[in-house]
Amino acid sequence: MNNLASSVLAERFSPDTDRDYAMLIDGDWVQSSSGQTFQCVDPFDNVPWGRIPAATVEDVDRAVRAARRAFDQDGWGTTSPLVRSQLLRRFGDLIGEHAEELAKIQIHENGKLITEMLAGARTLGPQAHYVAGLAENIHGRTFQSLIPNTTAYSVREPIGVVAAITPWNTPLGLLSWKLFPALAAGNTIVIKPSEVTPTSTLRLAELAMEAGFPPGVINVVTGFGQPTGSALVSHPDVDKIGFTGSTGAGRAIYKQAAERIGRVTLELGGKSPNIIFADADLDDAVHGVMAGIFAATGQTCMGGSRVLVQDAIHDEFVERLARATRSLRLGDPLDPSVDVGPVANRAQFQKVLEYVEIGQDEGAELVTGGVTRGDASGNGNGLFIEPAVFAGVDNGSRLAQDEIFGPVASVIRFKNEDEAVSIANDTEFGLAAGIWTNDVGRAHRMVGRVRAGTVWVNSYRLVSFNVPFGGFKQSGIGRELGPDALDAYTEEKAVWINQGNRQTFGRH
Ligand code: NAD
Repeated sequence: MNNLASSVLAERFSPDTDRDYAMLIDGDWVQSSSGQTFQCVDPFDNVPWGRIPAATVEDVDRAVRAARRAFDQDGWGTTSPLVRSQLLRRFGDLIGEHAEELAKIQIHENGKLITEMLAGARTLGPQAHYVAGLAENIHGRTFQSLIPNTTAYSVREPIGVVAAITPWNTPLGLLSWKLFPALAAGNTIVIKPSEVTPTSTLRLAELAMEAGFPPGVINVVTGFGQPTGSALVSHPDVDKIGFTGSTGAGRAIYKQAAERIGRVTLELGGKSPNIIFADADLDDAVHGVMAGIFAATGQTCMGGSRVLVQDAIHDEFVERLARATRSLRLGDPLDPSVDVGPVANRAQFQKVLEYVEIGQDEGAELVTGGVTRGDASGNGNGLFIEPAVFAGVDNGSRLAQDEIFGPVASVIRFKNEDEAVSIANDTEFGLAAGIWTNDVGRAHRMVGRVRAGTVWVNSYRLVSFNVPFGGFKQSGIGRELGPDALDAYTEEKAVWINQGNRQTFGRH
């Protein structure tokens, strides 16, 4: 790891680091009822900033009651879809005008690269317009009734009050997957952003207010999983939970919601295989593997953390991967020439280092990386870890089974398609997979056999708002994005019209 990017850029964005932030409840910007606050920490230089309200159970209750009132009494749930779509389009335009600012706030919170965050922020505007189009196209279905003299059709109605709970790795992108369809479908929402990245969500909420959403339709409570997130999940007036985060927290939320048969969409963890066949273009595959696991410093749910490499090319591939990995530039995430930024927070930093040790204890070979690089920040304090490549990894080991959520690639050897499939599917997760081959028949066979919500062929980490995303197995429940994104935020109501039959005692 020789190249350090310049550590401090002239235009380095500084949010108002001494600011007292406020949360949004019922159209008002308020402090916590306890007066307590917490801080963000910039992972690039490890400096705390801002004071963010720590929402209490009472604050959460107030936010949910505001959302309930906005839905039931103020009539948001029965507004014309056209009104909702127009507001969403205005919101999208404002987001577009502030894309760079939104990207930079997130970088200050989580240290992700400007190239990725800017592209993501610039997508939010078009995405809002796409979802606004879905609002203009909500429709039920008509059925050819099997019962004489009756008509049957269905309508789609909003579910009610939605709770959106989001992680720190892509704060606004993953929020938009919930917020836009929830609003488009006529729900009201209470958002609980990650405690690591709350201010970007607060800024987005300011733009929503500027766009003209009525009070109570969008609320934001800031705080930790306990008590803030938990109070939201267990609130009896929350009808639907849209959650993205770890499988552990998702499981706890699923259990809590089950008490009242609450609707949930869960986007959870992954341990995705990136499978390299001997017939692949190896230059492309090396790039694809690195982009799959080292982009976003490995802090992406779909990270290709298990690199399955076919026997015939195994040694050469590991050598090329290690060489390319060593040439990656660590440094300031605001510098567009940097390849890998810091790990997003102290807890994550320690977890990654712990897994580097676990991997070695389990007998895997650490080929490169896995050591800290505080100097990549210029002041010695940044949360930097050199991207790590392990070889000789056993798929049954913790290195291969646990989600590390960091820049750690575990190379696993395989002989043939059958063995690749069996290793790829031998995990509790099923979020994504990559397949690298020049054999079109093999590509199709593998797509059919790998159990994952998204499969890329000769590519990795492509996501677009018009294509559904979600996980098999313990990677989640339901799908976000795509043309059916509003389904998860609506109930389908069946309607029967009797055309003159006398009611019978039987069903019909
Ligand atoms: P996390 O589960 O620790 O936290 C996510 C959110 O849930 C935070 O806002 C947190 O405060 C809240 N929370 C935690 N416990 C809670 C509880 N008991 N009740 C209510 N809320 C609670 O996850 P994280 O560390 O912020 O994010 C990383 C994880 O997110 C990884 O596992 C990653 O795979 C996953 N992720 C999944 C996707 C996907 O689309 N499948 C996308 C991004 C991240």
